[in-house]
Amino acid sequence: MDLYERAKNVIPGGVNSPVRAFQSVGMDPIFFERADGPYIYDVDGNKYIDYIDSWGPMILGHRPKEVVENAKKYLDEAITFGLPTEVEVEMAELFTKFTGTEMVRMVNSGTEATMSAIRLARGYTGRDMIIKFEGCYHGHSDGLLVKSGSGTLTYNSPSSLGVPKEITDFTLVCEYNNIEDVKEKIYKFRGKIACVIIEPVAGNMGVVPADKTFIKELRKVTEENGILLIFDEVITGFRTQFGSIAKDFDVKPDLFCFGKIIGGGLPVGAFAGPREIMNKLSPVGGVYQAGTLSGNPLAMKMGRDTLLALDENRELYDKLEQLAIRLGKGFEENLRKTGIKGKVTRYKSMMSLFFGDFGEIKSYNDVKNADTKMYAKYFRAMVHQNFMFAPAQFEAIFFQKAHTEDIIDRTIEANLLALKWIKDED
Ligand SMILES: *Cc1c(COP(=O)(O)O)cnc(C)c1O
Repeated sequence: MDLYERAKNVIPGGVNSPVRAFQSVGMDPIFFERADGPYIYDVDGNKYIDYIDSWGPMILGHRPKEVVENAKKYLDEAITFGLPTEVEVEMAELFTKFTGTEMVRMVNSGTEATMSAIRLARGYTGRDMIIKFEGCYHGHSDGLLVKSGSGTLTYNSPSSLGVPKEITDFTLVCEYNNIEDVKEKIYKFRGKIACVIIEPVAGNMGVVPADKTFIKELRKVTEENGILLIFDEVITGFRTQFGSIAKDFDVKPDLFCFGKIIGGGLPVGAFAGPREIMNKLSPVGGVYQAGTLSGNPLAMKMGRDTLLALDENRELYDKLEQLAIRLGKGFEENLRKTGIKGKVTRYKSMMSLFFGDFGEIKSYNDVKNADTKMYAKYFRAMVHQNFMFAPAQFEAIFFQKAHTEDIIDRTIEANLLALKWIKDED
């Protein structure tokens, strides 16, 4: 029996997270077993250049020696106690210093980070309602599974079965980059809104950056109304710059959520903010939040080593942006050459290639008609040439340290061939 058949027999859809099913690109999933730098190897021994990078965490490349060499030793020390350890303190000190926050609590995923930050915002403000933006994804907790990007966009189920309507009644959804919409909701539900949560650069409806003026006004209007602003930086944190993206926008959100990169590939999330708010958390304050494996020593050690390696390699961010610019230009030129309609969106090293006819891309409304069938064909043509991109249109391309200009140029060549093949098929 092949692996996918075995998987389907014991795991729903054969996968532990829907986007891995390759459903929206019309393929069976490919199973992987080995990785090295920019390369990943499937169970049949095929080698691919990877632009998924585990959806972000592998920013230093797969199995970076700065992290892996020490990690082997860590197994000789301890795996987990469920009791306090020094490395948790070290990680929190580094994390708060690098992100410009005062206190942090570690959790095990991005989903937990956003879910807990929202509970904290509600506990702190004594209000129940929240605002999120259409096309932004903040993990799969009940109240946030409303019009929430990638997985749910791809599968066309804007929310989910099993989420009581009474819970999502507390979630107001606004259009991304539309401050009037936010102001109207805040007026209509004045005194009732605890927080606004946003991806400052959306990465889960494809890459759609927020306007700087929009974020500034969002900060102003939330502050004026006693509403906490939460930046969901599970992707952007340590990805588009070292630390938080807040300095790019010249604003200070109240709470920050991190994940992906900060665990160095192990399951880690974090939420952070000022002492005054964070001290509302249990055991000091009345907002309950906990986790058996939270701050897991092995994950903390690998996360710490990843942050330290990034700290010593801050020029990496500029390099990744240059690679993204190079790849983006190549893609745009190939679209022109082949006459295929599409658009590249980018913020620093976060980038997407959309298929379809677009004007300006500012919100979910602008991308929702992207040609997912075309993306599926394109994806298959790239896989055929051993390049691994996200198996869905509404995702980002992730760059990493082991990508080189030569790899980018080979990717551009493969992209041109793929576009030509698609065109000939039509
Ligand atoms: C991935 C992601 C999450 C969820 O993180 P998980 O670790 O998958 O639970 C939340 N917010 C954003 C912006 C993400 O990209």
